[in-house]
Amino acid sequence: MDYQKILEDIYMEIQPYAGKGAQADYIPALAKVNPDQFGIALRTVSGDSYEYEKAQTRFSIQSISKVFALAMALSMRGEDLWKIVGKEPSGTAFNSLVQLEVEKGKPRNPFINAGAIVIADMLISELDDPDAAFLGFIRALSGTDTIDYNMEVAESEREKGYLNAAIANMLKYHGTIKNDIEDVLMFYFRMCSVEMSCTELAQALLAFTNCQPFDYAGFKLTSSQIKRLNAVMQTCGFYDEAGEFSYLVGLPGKSGVGGGIVAVYPMRYSVAVWSPRLNSKGNSIMGMKALELLTTYTQESIF
Ligand code: GLN
Repeated sequence: MDYQKILEDIYMEIQPYAGKGAQADYIPALAKVNPDQFGIALRTVSGDSYEYEKAQTRFSIQSISKVFALAMALSMRGEDLWKIVGKEPSGTAFNSLVQLEVEKGKPRNPFINAGAIVIADMLISELDDPDAAFLGFIRALSGTDTIDYNMEVAESEREKGYLNAAIANMLKYHGTIKNDIEDVLMFYFRMCSVEMSCTELAQALLAFTNCQPFDYAGFKLTSSQIKRLNAVMQTCGFYDEAGEFSYLVGLPGKSGVGGGIVAVYPMRYSVAVWSPRLNSKGNSIMGMKALELLTTYTQESIF
């Protein structure tokens, strides 16, 4: 399979979508990013790597961090985790409060903000230094020691983080989170602020593609846990567009409002794509289109 040519063809073909949508600006620091950028990187389990355009430019991974946080929490809490956070698609926006109130403080899944804030709370409870542990895990997964938080982005999100603060307060009211609200939110914002490139993300996601038991920086997952994490990406990775992504792309994946999307084809390849302009659901327009074309041209999707 000539993946390199396919990536280049895809880039040409998505040009009509350039300029459509807008980058996230509810986090003021993200509004400074040039929205007209695109990168893509693909890694195969047999060790080949392909990339095109700005694949090595780092960007704010935002909600893609929720995959790594869930992996850490699963590694420490195992199946008990699901007593506190559900694993059903929400059908609502990533920052919605409505369902959380109706369902008395149990988030639908770990990939909407409410669920990820609960996972952040668990990591704080379990770890002596959650900041260092989170970085240690993603640095080990990607094999890159320079990956770091962007504190300007984290602070900027905190300043305008009214909705996430409302979610955290609701969780605290229902006793779902144990630690101080401000500490939990700041850790959540820091995880979202991490900057990685498409090449680094594709490398990091290979561990979830191989489906082999792993141990990165002391966080161990069994192949069964990896399979289940992929299942949650498939059903919940795109909030109220999870059905659309499944329909168009047909791979487990996760998006972030920095414009990044990661996806895995189990036992075959991991892919990361980035372009900051988003649709109304908070997912990258060019990114979604690129992945739709990737699985169409390669005829490699799980369906
Ligand atoms: N930090 C962002 C928020 O909480 C993450 C959202 C996202 O990437 N979908 O709103």
